[in-house]
Amino acid sequence: MPKYHAVCVNIKNFKFINRTISARRSDVVLHEYARYIERHMSENEIFARIAGDSFVGLVMDENIHKFLNKISNVKLYADKECRFIQINSRAGVYDVQIGDTVSDIMGYIDAALNVARELNEDHIFFEHSMMEKMLKGKEVSALFPVAIAKKQFEVFYQPKVNILNNELCGCEALVRWNRKGSIVPPMEFIPVLENEGTICQLDFYVFESVCETIRSWVDRGVRPVTVSVNFSRIHLKNPNVADEIFSIIDKYNIDTKYVEIELTEMSGYDNYENLSAFIKTMRDRGVHTSIDDFGTGYSSLNLLTDLDVDVVKLDKSYSIRLNNNEEKTKILIHNIVNMVHELGFKVIAEGVETEEQADFLRDIGCSTVQGYLFDKPLPLADFEQRLIGKVKYTV
Ligand code: C2E
Ligand code: MG
Ligand code: MG
Repeated sequence: MPKYHAVCVNIKNFKFINRTISARRSDVVLHEYARYIERHMSENEIFARIAGDSFVGLVMDENIHKFLNKISNVKLYADKECRFIQINSRAGVYDVQIGDTVSDIMGYIDAALNVARELNEDHIFFEHSMMEKMLKGKEVSALFPVAIAKKQFEVFYQPKVNILNNELCGCEALVRWNRKGSIVPPMEFIPVLENEGTICQLDFYVFESVCETIRSWVDRGVRPVTVSVNFSRIHLKNPNVADEIFSIIDKYNIDTKYVEIELTEMSGYDNYENLSAFIKTMRDRGVHTSIDDFGTGYSSLNLLTDLDVDVVKLDKSYSIRLNNNEEKTKILIHNIVNMVHELGFKVIAEGVETEEQADFLRDIGCSTVQGYLFDKPLPLADFEQRLIGKVKYTV
């Protein structure tokens, strides 16, 4: 009896070459892609569309690698009007064993597909450790609506410090999940929520909580600092995201200069039009934006010329690399900081943990930093003490 691999394929994105993307043409994409897959299957194999842009199939063991290579990045002739379609897909793959039930197999390929999505890989082969991760993810999804309704998410504030005078000059809002008294860090739930799109709900929850806090500072005569809030790139699919942000700002009647939107590194992001329109709207209405984790992707440099952001946050991996005191790393960071300044942006270095790192950054003109050397993300009450007491860091 032949041995098979089960595959779950999901269309990641598509684009009509020589033609603007139109949602109405997704029927053409599905049809052409299905025909293409059919052409690459042998008699004993099967493939079917199960929903939306997802397909599942059984491919013979000896064909699996060739098959995966053929389907991930495809350019197809479509019709006279749209000429060519470029289709990128991703797949979860499982080596079927005797005794597996259909629902086992579906669960395994789904888990592998989720990992492929998270790692932005074309395909991933299933491993049993992925099931545990998926079950945890399912738990997060199931608990999220209740957690948000019960306000179990808490906003922590990490100071940004001006290392020329060691004063607190801003802060970043970072969410925590207070689950029955234990604090769950964002990396344990944010990837799951991003996968599902529910991260948008959480980001607005955090943003509203921040605006409420700023309002309360103003009402109590405490001079606010600008608070930056992380927004997932998934928001950019929502044409009303800017309006929703401003309606919260208006609700609390706060000055726009007190909030900043951090957008995580956008390399690999394919809808620059939405992104730059969003940044422009924020700028026109007085809200600063920043690129978070700058330098972690491949097209970082293009972002600097294409986008009108205000602040570039140098990823913490650069600060960590400074620990080795390598001359090459220093040259790299020095030049990035100079270039970003010359292009007219402010630079913030993240992840500063040692005095040596802070000294180096000060010497090269990067005067705003964030890191454990000064403070970890703090609960609101602790942060307020720093703010009200006009803390002077001793570094
Ligand atoms: P980020 O926005 O780059 O935030 C900085 C992260 O670095 C935070 O991790 C912070 O605690 C950590 N950090 C700060 N200083 C140091 C340091 O000196 N050394 C080291 N090793 N780490 C430092 P955290 O709070 O675990 O957040 C992780 C990521 O989760 C954030 O990275 C951000 O991408 C995401 N995130 C957090 N809150 C939100 C939110 O409300 N919405 C969204 N969409 N993402 C969020
Ligand atoms: Mg951030
Ligand atoms: Mg960051």
